[in-house]
Amino acid sequence: MNLSIYIQSGGLVIISSDSGVKWYQSLKWLLFIIYFFIGFIPLVLFSFIMSDTLKSYFADTNEREILYQANKIAGTIQKSEYLTDPEKKDSFEYEMDEKSNEENFRIIVVNSAGVVVVDTNKTATGKVYIVREVLMALDGKDEANLRWDERAVYAAAYIENGNSEKIGAVLIVSPFDDVYDLIDVINHKWMMLTIGISIIIAFIVFFVSQLILAPLKNILETIKKISEGQLHQRIEISGKNEYTEIADAINNMTEQLEQVESSRQEFVSNVSHELKTPLSSIKVLCESILLQEDMPTEMYREFLQDINSEVDRMTNIVNDLLSLVKLDHREDALNIQETDINKMIQDVMKRLYPLAEKKNIELLYESNKDMTIEADEMKLSLAISNLIENGIKYTPDNGMVKVTIDGDHQNVFITVQDTGIGISEEEQSKVFKRFYRVDKTRDRETGGTGLGLAITHATVMLHNGSIKIVSSEGNGATFIVRLPIKHIED
Ligand code: ADP
Repeated sequence: MNLSIYIQSGGLVIISSDSGVKWYQSLKWLLFIIYFFIGFIPLVLFSFIMSDTLKSYFADTNEREILYQANKIAGTIQKSEYLTDPEKKDSFEYEMDEKSNEENFRIIVVNSAGVVVVDTNKTATGKVYIVREVLMALDGKDEANLRWDERAVYAAAYIENGNSEKIGAVLIVSPFDDVYDLIDVINHKWMMLTIGISIIIAFIVFFVSQLILAPLKNILETIKKISEGQLHQRIEISGKNEYTEIADAINNMTEQLEQVESSRQEFVSNVSHELKTPLSSIKVLCESILLQEDMPTEMYREFLQDINSEVDRMTNIVNDLLSLVKLDHREDALNIQETDINKMIQDVMKRLYPLAEKKNIELLYESNKDMTIEADEMKLSLAISNLIENGIKYTPDNGMVKVTIDGDHQNVFITVQDTGIGISEEEQSKVFKRFYRVDKTRDRETGGTGLGLAITHATVMLHNGSIKIVSSEGNGATFIVRLPIKHIED
């Protein structure tokens, strides 16, 4: 099964799977084959080895036994001088026939030239009868072999005269049918057992693989639904195993996707709303100018000034949004350099003096130490500037805003304290959100975009620092920023 994951520009993850999985490509089939062969091949191998071992065991015992008999007969022939004394020919034949009937095997006695002297089957008498075992026996070496094709054991033993000369050989041909039949029966039974066990294994494997793969199917189906946009879908698997871990990971991912999606929607609607207000004002102002004929120049200028300040407002929003977008792209977010914090804050304050002066707000600065930290000076000065500007904005006339710099060997602490309207505890966690304002009606007067604290927060986070508010409604607000002296890359 092929899964492809695409991340759309909007952030939504699309997962598509092509359903063209052939039956032999499925995991179920693979598992089935693996399990089947693990069970089946050893059984078949075992049956071959067992049948072979049985055959060689019976062959060995039989060969030894028949060779022993051949030796015994050779000894008798030697002792009774059957081969050298022609007068004993009848009793020789008689005795061999007796033995052959008794033991149920064929006895062939040949002389040193390989000519058959006695054959209990009577078919080869007088003929030259040379087989490998006879040749070896005439050569002085007793030999026995099982001939699979003839289903018989051939065993030959030599016969000597008084001078230890080889004067002939005894060959016994003993049928091996009984043993063959026995091995056949065993083989047949084993084969039936193998087939039976294989069928049982196949069933077990089939059900086990169903059991193993069922949760995977469930996971896949839910992923498909999620990829179709049903972000509320969750995978539910009971127990605690690798599948539940995968399910938990996917559920977490989906939850985050849902959050990203909803904050994206909220963000887009906020941006639209923020831009719509100045645009509507501009539209109304333009229409008024267009509709009113012979408008006095004074009024004309006044309307254009209003339009200009609305455009400024929109520019501020767009600039702040651009700053946030840059901060969101973490890779190229920071240009770290040694930054003199005291100098940086003094520069920011110099820029903001006119704003404070307008409201007759006292702008105080206190620093206990010379501090240099590794930071992106431009971004950090904007972040601190937002805090001081807010202090001025949200403090009534004749108030005070104080900036204090302190630090230890690891961190620098920048505190911006004002005597303004303060922020209730309930609102404190929300003010860092984009476009969040405590008093929605004041934004026009203060000229804020609602993005200042979001930019400050994102910048401080990128510097691996922290920001905290100490305030209560009506009692002024204190923002404490902690920044590490040494910058650590994530
Ligand atoms: P704005 O552009 O509206 O100032 P910010 O993101 O800078 O947006 O601040 C968000 C909100 O937090 C403000 O609208 C204001 O209600 C509140 N706030 C920020 N700073 C202060 C402060 N020093 N005192 C009181 N309220 C503050």
